[in-house]
Amino acid sequence: MSFIDATDVTKTFGKNHVLNKVNFHLESGSQCVIKGASGSGKSTFLYIVGGLERLNGGNIFVGDHDLSKMNDDQLARYRNEAVGFVFQFHFLLSSLTNLENILLPARLGKKKVNEVESYITGLAKRLGVEECLEKYPYEISGGQQQRINLIRALSLKPALLLCDEPTGNLDSANSEVVTELLLELSEKQGTTLLVVTHDEEVSRHFDRVYHMVDGVLS
Ligand code: ADP
Ligand code: MG
Repeated sequence: MSFIDATDVTKTFGKNHVLNKVNFHLESGSQCVIKGASGSGKSTFLYIVGGLERLNGGNIFVGDHDLSKMNDDQLARYRNEAVGFVFQFHFLLSSLTNLENILLPARLGKKKVNEVESYITGLAKRLGVEECLEKYPYEISGGQQQRINLIRALSLKPALLLCDEPTGNLDSANSEVVTELLLELSEKQGTTLLVVTHDEEVSRHFDRVYHMVDGVLS
């Protein structure tokens, strides 16, 4: 059964037709990548799946959430409870340490912070950013911030993990580590994983590759 079920999804910004009848289906616990050039509509589609952007036409279901019918509060709850987001551009708060940034979703969700913290430390070791945890975002590199972002998105083991150019700021060795970690965690934890990228190095790790060209998915 599909976990993500998108039928004829369209999105326009003014006269700009960004998504043109996108059909997309992804089974629970599986992984796929959408590859496409810059401006083709990848981020817009990812934001719609993650409940950050609304569609203009068509339908999209994620699990039993009918995204086109949900109000803003329902979408916010859906994002908090079900979705981990790795954004292309980092959203780390500069007044908090990296660890505190990572722990924000756990605190907001009233989760057991101790349990989350040991999981986080393991991920940080694996990604080579353990020594960054007590520092502030401005004290670490863009590539390290990217990995801190990833750990934050993974911290609550979301049912759905959405990644927008997750390796955008990383060198090829770290890109490989991040991509392999995403796939491994998805397989181990049954997380449904959707990545969008223009990067061939990322997409070649995936069995399922879709292509986005000018808002048309194939
Ligand atoms: P990609 O992620 O593939 O680079 P995007 O989804 O970011 O592509 O953008 C696709 C098109 O939609 C571009 O023409 C972009 O300018 C436009 N677009 C994206 N977001 C907005 C927005 N919030 N307002 C207006 N136009 C937008
Ligand atoms: Mg984009």
